[in-house]
Amino acid sequence: MRLSDHFYLHELTRSQIATRRALPNQPDEKQIDALRLLCRRVLEPVRRHVKVPIMPSSGYRCLALNRFLGSGDSSSHCRGEAVDFEVMGVDNIQLAHWVSDNLDFDQLILEYPQPDKGDGRWLHVSYKAEGNRAECLTRLHDGYHFGLPHVRERF
Ligand SMILES: [Zn+2]
Repeated sequence: MRLSDHFYLHELTRSQIATRRALPNQPDEKQIDALRLLCRRVLEPVRRHVKVPIMPSSGYRCLALNRFLGSGDSSSHCRGEAVDFEVMGVDNIQLAHWVSDNLDFDQLILEYPQPDKGDGRWLHVSYKAEGNRAECLTRLHDGYHFGLPHVRERF
């Protein structure tokens, strides 16, 4: 099932862990609607900006998969409202700033940035049909911090 110009449902539900543990990880209609919105409002604009394919590493997660990953039951991934991704060859810290400056979103988390290497591990972005907070967080090994690391140059 196609969710937007460049993204298909299976890209937002696939999980090696779910496959290995025989978890169905199938979203319902409401969760698919949330994923569609996430693709149209977040992934497509990012795709247009970076001009290269984006491989989401985690989108929708059923409760069992989410628990197995150690995430709380209130995770936006369980509602189909969040996606984790990185873009090969693109500095995630700069990309986080681009998302923050240009898109509407509920929460943007830059996961484990490594400014010395000019990169972060991945971005978590969530989008809700209404009530988006535009909250930016950086996750380090000691927990979550408000805001994003400073970057000297943006692209
Ligand atoms: Zn996430």
